[in-house]
Amino acid sequence: MIRYALSCDHDHAFEGWFGSSSDYDDQAARGLLECPLCGSKGVRKQIMAPAVAGTKAQKSAPAVDPKMREMMMTAMGEVRRQVEENFDYVGDRFAKEARDIHEGKSEERGIYGEASAKEVKALVEDGVKIAPLPPAAPKKTEVN
Ligand SMILES: [Zn+2]
Repeated sequence: MIRYALSCDHDHAFEGWFGSSSDYDDQAARGLLECPLCGSKGVRKQIMAPAVAGTKAQKSAPAVDPKMREMMMTAMGEVRRQVEENFDYVGDRFAKEARDIHEGKSEERGIYGEASAKEVKALVEDGVKIAPLPPAAPKKTEVN
């Protein structure tokens, strides 16, 4: 059995149990799904990973759902991709360049590169706006 978190077009949240994901698709296609609260047939899956029942108990630590994690990693990978495409790579000159831009000595633009922890600390202390670059998106083969 697969549990799906569903919601209707009135944003009522409820759960549905299905024999398989194709079971859900089948019922949805035939208009058999309706909101138990308002009877709306505008039912859709919430953006959430299905919980699979009957598998061995999860470890007690509040683990991040692997599907959620994958989505987050993909989103972060997208940010990284945008940065890599649109920002100037300055390598280990990052700290100097970021400071020069901050002080108006260098052309204002997006840059990325490497900096030591010490450099990062100094930049932050001086009010230079920097952020760690998210990791690259995992390759499909690395996920499961
Ligand atoms: Zn409803």
